[in-house]
Amino acid sequence: MHITQHSTSLATALQCPRCGRLYNIGDIQSYATCCNQPLFTRYRLDQPLHQAVDLNDHSIWRYSRLLPVFEDQNIVSLGEGGTPLYTLPALSQQHEVNIRLKDESVNPTGSFKARGISVAVSRAKELGIHHCIIPTAGNAGGALSAYCAKAGMKATVIMPRHTPLTLQTECRMYGAELMLVDGLISDCGRRAQQLVAQTGGFDMSTLKEPYRLEGKKTIGYEIAEQLHWQLPDVIIYPTGGGTGLIGMWKAFAEMKQLGWLTGKLPRMVIVQSANCDPMVQLFQQGLIPADFSASPSIAYGLAVPTPFAKDLMMDVLQQSNGTALTVTETEITLGMRRIATTEGLLLSPEGSATYIGMQHLIADGWIQEGENVLLFNTGSWYKYRS
Ligand SMILES: *Cc1c(COP(=O)(O)O)cnc(C)c1O
Repeated sequence: MHITQHSTSLATALQCPRCGRLYNIGDIQSYATCCNQPLFTRYRLDQPLHQAVDLNDHSIWRYSRLLPVFEDQNIVSLGEGGTPLYTLPALSQQHEVNIRLKDESVNPTGSFKARGISVAVSRAKELGIHHCIIPTAGNAGGALSAYCAKAGMKATVIMPRHTPLTLQTECRMYGAELMLVDGLISDCGRRAQQLVAQTGGFDMSTLKEPYRLEGKKTIGYEIAEQLHWQLPDVIIYPTGGGTGLIGMWKAFAEMKQLGWLTGKLPRMVIVQSANCDPMVQLFQQGLIPADFSASPSIAYGLAVPTPFAKDLMMDVLQQSNGTALTVTETEITLGMRRIATTEGLLLSPEGSATYIGMQHLIADGWIQEGENVLLFNTGSWYKYRS
């Protein structure tokens, strides 16, 4: 394995994205208590490309100057990032749009959760944290378990009892403490808060910890680099907690400030399952109805009934002229077969959801003939066996 000497992080502060209040980056912070929002890491954004990107490193640490870890020795990496971006020629021809697919299934632990967790665990190590606690729909728990094992830290993972066995066993194999809870990730979140209060462990809940977002934003940097700084017209994102959606949008804003990107940014699309679609409800009706109920989805990464970052997700949709839509469980299953038989790619149900979402948006005329569309395969199909 090669050891890359990364240059120093350009991070300067944490900031509330709503009121702008600054928080000390040297402190252990969870979220912006001023406005009850996730915290954004801010950087000195005045670097030319060749000084900010380590072209010899193909992991997310290629962008280490734009990540919040200050000492190289604290970086906990399993080679996450640097994932392929495919064109889907057969489906592009059938649907009369240019379809690309960012395949995140090849990340360590089989999902794009590795990106965020690598940065969060690295920064936790730097801040002297020894025990991380995470409520998860599945993949974040596996990733946390692996990265904590490598870092020599204790991991406690709390996941719904109905989660596929592969995802449970994986955590145990990495030596994590696993707790099963009846209900969805929101119920796991409540249990996690109790545990944090009891044990003093660190809460790694989605976007209640600032640095998973920074890891996820590297998707945005990678896409821009892979597409030679010409972003697609539309990005369709299978949305649970929204880390990737908000992270990409943050990356695009940073790259504009850096002068690496010019022109129009993509229209960002949220896809959710009909079994759990709070963001679609919020987008369409302006509120999540009082009688909103959620049930598990085969796309378990999308079953997040009460996302903490809902306001920031709405900002992304509004600022990008985006939209939000629901797909059914049956459609997700059919989509998986269709892509597998046409393109030779077995997508996770979440990945299939982006393809189905695209079909609906083409049928509605929201996506026009010839537009460039980016889909996501966020996780590995092989993890969904029970
Ligand atoms: C977590 C997860 C998602 C949702 O990602 P967010 O950034 O939390 O919205 C989608 N797909 C898979 C496979 C996941 O594990």
